Amino acid sequence: MVDLKFYEKFNTLLSEKNSNNVFLSKVKYNQVLTEVKRLKSGAKLKPNDYKLLKRYDIMNVSNIDKLIVPVTDPNTIKYYVYNEELYNIIHDVHLQTGHGGRNRMEHELNAKYKNITRECLMIYLNLCELCQRKGKTVKKGLVVKPIISSEMNSRCQVDLIDMQAQPDGNYRFILVYQDHLTKYVLLKPLTHKRAEEVAYILLDIFTTFGAPCILQSDNGREFVNKVIEELCSMWEELKIVHGKPRHSQSQGSVERANQDVENMLATWLTDNKTNKWSEGLKFVQFMKNRSLHHGIKCSPYEAMFGTRAKIGLKSTSLPESIIHKLKSDEDLETALNSINTTYEINAEKHIEKKSIDTSSEENIDIDEEPADIIQSRKETIEKKEENRCII
Ligand SMILES: [Zn+2]
Repeated sequence: MVDLKFYEKFNTLLSEKNSNNVFLSKVKYNQVLTEVKRLKSGAKLKPNDYKLLKRYDIMNVSNIDKLIVPVTDPNTIKYYVYNEELYNIIHDVHLQTGHGGRNRMEHELNAKYKNITRECLMIYLNLCELCQRKGKTVKKGLVVKPIISSEMNSRCQVDLIDMQAQPDGNYRFILVYQDHLTKYVLLKPLTHKRAEEVAYILLDIFTTFGAPCILQSDNGREFVNKVIEELCSMWEELKIVHGKPRHSQSQGSVERANQDVENMLATWLTDNKTNKWSEGLKFVQFMKNRSLHHGIKCSPYEAMFGTRAKIGLKSTSLPESIIHKLKSDEDLETALNSINTTYEINAEKHIEKKSIDTSSEENIDIDEEPADIIQSRKETIEKKEENRCII
C-alpha cells in the first residue's frame, strides 16, 4: 500500500514539473527506445536527433533493450528507469543500506541509475514508517574535530552492546569492532562479557586484517587491559597499547557507530520478523560497511578495499530482469556476449588509439591484467587514505 501512497505524491511532483524533466513514464520510455533504435540504424539525423543520442543509448542484453546513458567506460553503465519501476528500485536500495537515509541511498543509486532524483528519495523516506519512528529517537549533530590517523596511530575501538534484555540463544552481547581510519566495522555475537572471549574474537580479526597499535574501548580501562593481556598470551609477537577510554576527538564517531548498529539491527529484525539478532548482525555489518560514511566521503568498504562492495551478479551492469533468469556459468556468458552498446565502438577507438600512441599513460580498462587491476585498486585505496582528515 505504501507504493500507492508513493505514486500519489510522485504524481503531484510530476504535475509541478515542466515537460522537459528527467522522469520517464513507461510509454515515454518505450517511445524513446524506438526512436533511438531508429536513429542508430542509420536514419538521417536532424539537429534534435544528436541531442537525443547524446542523452540516450540502448543496451541489448539477451534480446531485452534497456535505455542507458551513452557509455565510455564499461564499468559504469547507468540505466534510465521508468516511473513505474521507481518504487521497487528505491525500496530495494533502502533495505540494502539498512534503512539508509538520503545520502546513503543516493550513493548506491547513482552508481547504477541516471534519473532517480533526491525528491523521489525524500518522498519514499517520508513514507517509511520505521524511518519515521527512528528519526524521532536518534540524536543528531554531534560536532567532532578531525583526527589524523597515521600508521603509528592506528587505532581500533572495541565496544560491547548489552543485549541481555533480549538474548538470542546463548548470545547476550554484541562486540562492535571499528577501525578508526577506514571506519570499517565488524560485528560479532558474544555469549559472555569475558575478556578471553573478546580476545579470541579480536585475534581472528587481527590475523585477517592486521593488528592496530592502539586498542580502546568504552568498557573501562581494566577491561581493555585484560583483553590485551589475553591477546598477547595467545600471540606472543603482538605489541599493542590501550588508548584512553573515549578518545575524545573521535567520541562522536564511535557513539554514532554503535547507535547506528543498534538502529539498523532493530529495523532488520522488524523487516525480517525475527528475534535472531545474531544472524542479523552479519547483514547489518555488510550494510553498514557498504553505506556512505559522511566523514570519509565514501563507504568504509571502499576505504578498506578500494572498490565498491559487491553482491554477486547484482553488482554487475546487467539489468535486474536478466539477473533473475541466470542460472549457470553458460547463461552468464551468453548474456555477457549479447551486451551490445556503443561502448564497443568506443572501445575499438580506444584500442586503436593505444596502438598508435603507446606513450600515453591513459588508463585502459579493457583487457586489464589481474596485476593491473590490483595496482589500480591499491592506488584508489591510497587516494582514499590521503583524505585522512577523518572523524
Ligand atoms: Zn526505512
